[in-house]
Amino acid sequence: MIDLSNPKVSFALESVRQASRLVQQIQSEMVSPALTKDDRSPVTVADFAAQALIGSLLVESFPDDILVAEESSSALKDQGNHAALGQITSYVSRIAPQATEDQVCDWIDLGTADPQKRFWVLDPIDGTKGFLRGEQYAVALALVEDDQVQIGVLGCPNLTKARIPDYHGSGSLVIAVRDQGAWVTSMGGEMEFEKLTVSPRKEASEARILRSFEAAHTNTNQIDELAHSLGAKAEPVRMDSQAKYALLAAGEGDLLLRMLSPERKDYREKIWDQAAGSIVVEEAGGMVTDLDGKLLDFSTGRNLYKNTGILATNSLIHEEVLKAIRKLGDYE
Ligand code: AMP
Ligand code: MG
Repeated sequence: MIDLSNPKVSFALESVRQASRLVQQIQSEMVSPALTKDDRSPVTVADFAAQALIGSLLVESFPDDILVAEESSSALKDQGNHAALGQITSYVSRIAPQATEDQVCDWIDLGTADPQKRFWVLDPIDGTKGFLRGEQYAVALALVEDDQVQIGVLGCPNLTKARIPDYHGSGSLVIAVRDQGAWVTSMGGEMEFEKLTVSPRKEASEARILRSFEAAHTNTNQIDELAHSLGAKAEPVRMDSQAKYALLAAGEGDLLLRMLSPERKDYREKIWDQAAGSIVVEEAGGMVTDLDGKLLDFSTGRNLYKNTGILATNSLIHEEVLKAIRKLGDYE
């Protein structure tokens, strides 16, 4: 079991729980079928509110700690979204009643720090497209120390027991601590933890592939080619966000791929898109590398500049899949 008496562990769990509940409220109050196609305001409000809330909780608990996060308040102002700031502040003040607009901007901007020897890394809403569709998304927080992820938490409001999509349940909080395993509990108050273990499947031909919902975030032709060469017949599961890592950790999938989109061959993963998810999979017994089989290198700043794409598996089929990827030839 994880050591909940460790203050960093309990902070990670509780701050993601609170942020996940807040964004769940924002999704239910603001995301409606009446949205126009390019109306991104609900995700803007939710992203910034979650980052501000976690920033405020971090200052309270660990005032000297570094936060590296996706958003900055200048982006909020640049987008001509000043009206949204009022909404963000009003949501944040549901939990932090002392919040003012200036303070909310300061809390958000804690996340503009550069990675150092020890830092927290946050994606306040991973899977923004899924959030807008009312489907999967995650609040993802991790602690990186000496280039290694030590704690990872995924708040998945639309997932039950880390494996079942459920839009009316109380959601999943998935936590992994280095050498203490990966666990899931409900986002509601009860503190019952279930240990997560990857699938025991040894045959790559039976692998259930997890991939991005958004075709632009991956290379669907190559995923199809790879599935074909492995003899994997099951239709890949398309899902947004690091919720996919929760499924892999829970044994609900065997293989997660981020192949490079043909339009973005220079794309390098953001650390907040991988840090929490990668430790969750590793602590459940899985393996996470890039498409060359190299371990993820968290020492290169805000992006994984030394890694290309992602391959995460239950570890048993990792080598076989890497070989098949090599045979695909030009995946870069
Ligand atoms: P997913 O929900 O798995 O599609 O992953 C969502 C994440 O993909 C977002 O948080 C983005 O940071 C990231 N992303 C955006 N563009 C790309 C791209 N061209 N290739 C890979 N990932 C991307
Ligand atoms: Mg993201």
